[in-house]
Amino acid sequence: MRCLICSSDTSCFTDIQMKVKTYLCAHCDMIFKDPAGHKDFETQKVRYDLHENHAEDEGYRRYFQQFLDFALAQSKMPVTALDFGCGRSTLLSDMLAKQGVTSEFYDPIYHPDTAYRDKKYNLITSVEVFEHLHDPMAVFEELVSLLSPDGILAIRTELLSAGKEAYLQWYYRRDPTHVVFFAPQTFRVMCEKIGVRYVEGNGKNMVLISKE
Ligand SMILES: [Zn+2]
Repeated sequence: MRCLICSSDTSCFTDIQMKVKTYLCAHCDMIFKDPAGHKDFETQKVRYDLHENHAEDEGYRRYFQQFLDFALAQSKMPVTALDFGCGRSTLLSDMLAKQGVTSEFYDPIYHPDTAYRDKKYNLITSVEVFEHLHDPMAVFEELVSLLSPDGILAIRTELLSAGKEAYLQWYYRRDPTHVVFFAPQTFRVMCEKIGVRYVEGNGKNMVLISKE
């Protein structure tokens, strides 16, 4: 099978514990589960309904604040922001709104209004979304197209450490709705492909991308 990101040849192995065929791309380091086993929308929703994030939860606030601190360290305070794939909670968006940012959110299941498609944003955040995407390159391109010229795309997803062996020990792959896994190199290749700039990553779970 060809890599979902860079179309290079991949090598295939079986994740025995998860009972799923899995592919590794030697060019961009991406790992992905066999698309034939991807869950449909309804099955995914059942799983997402289990995710509880209450706005009052101090842990979630800290988690989002840490993400925002990373995202905003390189840029001035955005005027407009979009939280793409927020889930049920709009907490991240609410936190930005409190700081005076015109803040919007979208989620295909819980907040499906697609008005965001006609706008541009200084900051787009996407937290724990990319690992769920069946066509990550298409979503990446769409989000980049919604950035204003000075805009920043800030993505949070757990990043792969090198190799198949580490992957097969990794808790993150056990969620059946997690289907694609990115290494820092994967994001660099994605940026090259559409001519945008990989600003920086923390090597662990966050990357920043800018249009210029
Ligand atoms: Zn690849």
